[in-house]
Amino acid sequence: MNSTAQEIRAVFEQYDHMMLTAHVSPDGDAIGSILGLYGWLAGQGKKVIAVIDDDIDDKFLFLPHADQICHPDAVHVDPSWLTVVLDATDLGRIGRVAGLIPGKVLNIDHHISNAHFADWEYVLPSYAATGEILTALFQEWQAHIDPAMADSLYMAIATDCGFFKFSNTTGHTLRMAAQLVDAGARPNIISEHLEAQPLVKLRALSEVLRHIELFGDNTVAGLAFSPELLKYTGEHTGTYIDYIRTIQGVDVAFTVKYVREAETRVSLRSKTVDVNAIAGVFGGGGHVRAAGCTIARPLQDAKNMVVKEILKAL
Ligand code: 5GP
Ligand code: MN
Repeated sequence: MNSTAQEIRAVFEQYDHMMLTAHVSPDGDAIGSILGLYGWLAGQGKKVIAVIDDDIDDKFLFLPHADQICHPDAVHVDPSWLTVVLDATDLGRIGRVAGLIPGKVLNIDHHISNAHFADWEYVLPSYAATGEILTALFQEWQAHIDPAMADSLYMAIATDCGFFKFSNTTGHTLRMAAQLVDAGARPNIISEHLEAQPLVKLRALSEVLRHIELFGDNTVAGLAFSPELLKYTGEHTGTYIDYIRTIQGVDVAFTVKYVREAETRVSLRSKTVDVNAIAGVFGGGGHVRAAGCTIARPLQDAKNMVVKEILKAL
């Protein structure tokens, strides 16, 4: 059950040492939420470590403190540390950081599939981003948001609602974003950094788009990232799904990505279908219109299993 905003503030006041983390394959919301909260806590004189069990896409490195997000191997904590899990539904989503947790856990998240695992939680599935929750908390606490925090939190919100285009965008989402702009966030600079891509990445797009597959009377679009295709794209393939979800008539878009011989990473997006439920069939989750899972099967098998579940749900 959720604590109140004031109870959450009291938890932050109670601890001097905090380890912040977020989900593996970190997206804009995961990184922006960590950095926004990091900025505030550091400003309060707290000792804060940010850790993610994954590499950070270069495009996020323009944000202040982004270079300080470390890997689990570099972290040493003891039971006097509070662990703050941001934008993640359960401990399975934070990889090896789960093994470092020395004491109490606070979870701030907006996923409908949240497992309610923490000692204190603040889970609001109607919010478009964890960054939107943090901004609302700072507002409630009358905490000062400096321009660096504002950039990070704006980036968190904007990336999770497709820059205010997805169905999760509400009046509240826009009001929180507006407040961040008033506090110094720079929408144009953030967009420029996130959109900028090396020429090789743009060239890779032509190769990726040749691999689009359609199913279910062209209402389902899919991309399979085989090891061969990953040679063109590199590991960070998260944006390609946004191209195929725009195909006219497509309701569900998915990608499957080779991780190793019997491990495939799946992403799902939809206009009407509940993809959280589809990801749930395979032990994953997320949101009704954006979800993911990992399937312990080879790429082709996993693709067939996903397509079958999508066609059932249509
Ligand atoms: P993406 O496709 O961008 O990796 O993830 C889409 C959404 O689903 C994100 O909000 C992400 O946090 C969530 N998600 C992705 N994979 C998983 C998973 O394996 N388990 C859970 N619980 N959520 C996931
Ligand atoms: Mn999120």
